[in-house]
Amino acid sequence: MKVVCLDLEGVLIPEIWIDFAKKTGIDALMATTRDIPDYDVLMKQRLRLLDENQLTIDDIQAVIATMQPLEGAKHFLDELREQYQVIILSDTFYEFAAPFMVQFGQPTLFCHKLALSESGRVEDYILRQVDPKRHAVMAFKQLNFTVYAAGDSYNDTSMLTEADAGFLFRSPENVINEFPQFPHTTEYNVLRSYFDSV
Ligand SMILES: [Mg+2]
Repeated sequence: MKVVCLDLEGVLIPEIWIDFAKKTGIDALMATTRDIPDYDVLMKQRLRLLDENQLTIDDIQAVIATMQPLEGAKHFLDELREQYQVIILSDTFYEFAAPFMVQFGQPTLFCHKLALSESGRVEDYILRQVDPKRHAVMAFKQLNFTVYAAGDSYNDTSMLTEADAGFLFRSPENVINEFPQFPHTTEYNVLRSYFDSV
């Protein structure tokens, strides 16, 4: 019995904050962990920028709803779900991912959440746990599932290591070079063939 764990951003959809910054024209929201390594400092800055631009969760979701999954992602996911139980493991927030999950037909998603006020102001963010992707894979293995996993970046590598088979998808060069043990592809049909052949 196999489950497939997929990263979300960079694998099925664009990086939400980057795309959101482009859509809203708020350039300061382009900052990522590459610019501000301390995740808490980065998130606090993002939340402050949302406030300064008077963006509530409703506004944010309306913008995100205009974003598209990566080309071919929905077809890939639909076909994959016919054959495997698929769990999406992401470091995004449910409230951000929700519009994409509608487009994908509501697959299972484990991620983090936002603390919202009654008026929809984003007050804070709540991490469900540290290293959540790896913990999810560990739990599935305890349930006697064989786990295959794919992701694009550093925050996926502990998940890929923990899985019975791990693959990189559309990863930056530095990640590919640092983790040569994981096969890499940029194509959905190749990724699918990896899952089918292990
Ligand atoms: Mg990613």
